[in-house]
Parts: sequence; C-alpha cells; structure tokens
Amino acid sequence: MNRRRRIYEGKAKVLYEGPEPGTLIQHFKDDATAFNAKKHAVIEGKGVLNNRISEFLFERLEEIGVPTHFIKTLNMREQLVREVEIIPIEVVVRNVAAGSLATKLGLEEGMQLPRSIIEFYYKADELNDPMVSEEHITAFGWATPQELDEMMQLAIRINDFMVGLFLGIGIKLVDFKIEFGRHYENDHVNIILADEISPDSCRLWDTQTSDKLDKDRFRQDLGGLLEAYQEVARRLGVLNQNRPATGAGPVLVASNNPTGSPS
Ligand code: UDP
Repeated sequence: MNRRRRIYEGKAKVLYEGPEPGTLIQHFKDDATAFNAKKHAVIEGKGVLNNRISEFLFERLEEIGVPTHFIKTLNMREQLVREVEIIPIEVVVRNVAAGSLATKLGLEEGMQLPRSIIEFYYKADELNDPMVSEEHITAFGWATPQELDEMMQLAIRINDFMVGLFLGIGIKLVDFKIEFGRHYENDHVNIILADEISPDSCRLWDTQTSDKLDKDRFRQDLGGLLEAYQEVARRLGVLNQNRPATGAGPVLVASNNPTGSPS
C-alpha cells in the first residue's frame, strides 16, 4: 500500500493516487496540529474517528443535494474521493462567537451571533492563512464571482443542515471550516465540497453541559480529545467499526431547547 504515489501530505491527511484516473485516496492520520503546526501531537485513533465522522456527514450532505468529492470508504482510515483542483480559500461559517472571532472583536465566547456569518481565509501557511474579503478573492483570481457565489450558497445550505443534525444529538454547531474544489468532468466544471468535516474542523459544544467536543480540547490543553471525538461519533451512530456501509444514523437525545431553533 505504501508504494502508492503520494500526491500531497497535509497536517492531518495524506492524498494518494487513486485506482482510476480522476480519483484519489484520502488517508486520515492521527496527527493533531494547531497554531499553524507550531503545536503538534499524535493522538492514536483520531484518524479513524475523523474518517468515520467525515464519511457520515458527506453522505448525508450528498443526500440533500450538496455535491461532494466523497465516493466511498475504503477502510478504517481511507476514503476514495474525486480528484479536484482545490480552491485556495478556507470558508468558515459561524453561528456562535468563539475562537479568532471572539478574540478579534472582543466578543464573549458563546454569544449567539445575530445571524450566521461567512468568512474567507486565504490558504497560505507561510502567511498564517490571512482573512480575506470577496474583493481579494475575485481580484486575485482565486475564484470567480460565480464560483464564490456558489461556495457561499453551498456553505449556507451545509450550515443549515448541520446545525439541525447536530442539535438533534445534543450538540451545538458553533462554527466550522470547509473547502471546495473544481471538479472537471467532460466539458463541465463543478464546484464540489472537498477535504473533510470532522471535530478537527468544527467547534461542537454539548448543548447541556457546554463541554467542548472538538479540537479546542487539544488547542487549549483540556485533554480527553479522543473521548470527545468518540462521543461525537457515538451520537452520530457511527462508532461501531464493524457496521455495514451505512450506519444506524444519529441517536436522538433530549434537548433543553424544545423550540428546536439554534440557541
Ligand atoms: N479551522 C480549521 N482550520 C484552520 C482554521 C480554522 O479547521 O486552519 C476551523 C476551526 O476548527 C473552527 C473554525 O474553523 O471550527 C473557525 O476557526 P477560527 O477562525 O476561530 O480559528 P482558530 O481559533 O481555530 O484559530
């Protein structure tokens, strides 16, 4: 397996050449990094959980008509995905103030935002992924106005869907980061969701206890990262490693928010 051609190695994943043209194998590593890789650790089992969680979320998103790169899971750590040209923009969607937004604007962490907010960051490690505006993105040609429009519409759909999905299992979706790619097929180019969605790239808080069930456990040295990711996987109904290709689905939990609206 290791003689496969490695196309790209990132902080938490490796991309290998796929079995057919136009496909890649996305391998989830156990590495955890933060602060642009200044902090690093290996947390055994994290890659397996992220593979499962991301697979589940991408499958559910496909079901509601969000095009994604996901084709199928190959094994505990690997997925077969469509090859795309990654758009060098991280799209962050926020529902609740936390992280860099709370710091930058002096907001109290946990404050419900007046509405969901989309932000863009230019993917450039050497520049620490600076925040950029739509103007920068189109002026420098990182994405066309049409592509940007499509990315924003998809980001809103993904957020609306995931807020509800997580609320149903007692988790508040505070914010998350997604990436898109151009998928070339015959004469068409489509914008599709790529990369991953996992507790590495989302902020997920227990609705009852406000416990952090995401990578902030690592960033803030809270400990218990693997247990938190396991809890997310368990509530999504994807913890059983030997389950058939489709999981039992999310486990509904009682909500302290009977209106069902994001709080
Ligand atoms: N995020 C990510 N990768 C990054 C930066 C951020 O997945 O390189 C996610 C992060 O986990 C959070 C959201 O994007 O869910 C917003 O992150 P923020 O801008 O607050 O940055 P941070 O505080 O993580 O530096």
